[in-house]
Amino acid sequence: MEQACMKPRPSFPAKLETTAPKAPKQPLSSKTWAAQLQAQSKGVASPTQASGLGLDSATVRENMVRKLMDQGVEDPMVLSALGTIERHRFIDSALVNQAYEDTSLPIGFGQTISKPNVVARMIELLRQGRNLMITGKLGRVLEIGTGCGYQAALLSMVSKEVYSIERIQGLHLKAKDHLRPMRLPNLHLILGDGMLGFPDGAPYAGIIAAAGGDAIPQAWLDQLDMGGRIVAPMAMADGQQSLVVIDKTPSGLQRSLLEPVHFVPLKSGVI
Ligand code: SAH
Repeated sequence: MEQACMKPRPSFPAKLETTAPKAPKQPLSSKTWAAQLQAQSKGVASPTQASGLGLDSATVRENMVRKLMDQGVEDPMVLSALGTIERHRFIDSALVNQAYEDTSLPIGFGQTISKPNVVARMIELLRQGRNLMITGKLGRVLEIGTGCGYQAALLSMVSKEVYSIERIQGLHLKAKDHLRPMRLPNLHLILGDGMLGFPDGAPYAGIIAAAGGDAIPQAWLDQLDMGGRIVAPMAMADGQQSLVVIDKTPSGLQRSLLEPVHFVPLKSGVI
């Protein structure tokens, strides 16, 4: 296993189009972000909407976040992260015009990045699992399946520390390239088999999986902190996947079965 902390490197401009007004340099605080979107949904136009110019990526993200709110995502910190992290940086250039649509997209090596709606739902569920820290963030989180690194970047904004593990070396390296310019010091990328969890970072306040197996691996249950929560897809007896939430409580594991989902399979070994 390899652990790779992000090394600082100069970031480069990240605009989809260049005609639009500049996006704010500082990310909005979660409260400001949510309040601004709520004001806009009540008909108060933002300066960028009022300008009538082409859309820049910040505006497209605002629209994406507004749709997520309409679909029921409420957690201001999750909405703020989705409004801040530039999804188009994680998508191959041929697909970049679809980066902010609510659709899953191929990321190479036969894998896919989940729809923003599913990503938001899962992170929101993860954060609802336990008392958050005084900062409002989750503590240490383990992500199984780094893929292109998008969800890992979101998690780094809502958690104290994130360990994200990927079994396909090509994707692990791709995620490193995507994430390096973002300088997220609390995000650690690991090449390894996530079915074994990642004991070095345990115990975790939350474990979130982007790939689904037939069962929740024992290692995840062992590495989950008391009061912690697992959010993962899992195949049911009929082969259909559903979202599973497991809470570790003093009286034992509490399991809830949620909606059907479609994730890539959880596989063992490193390639
Ligand atoms: N969260 C990712 C989604 C990637 S798709 C993103 O934002 O892009 C799911 C990923 O899980 C794939 O890259 C796949 O290779 C990985 N995966 C499947 N089984 C795994 C395992 N046992 N350990 C680590 N990663 C695994």
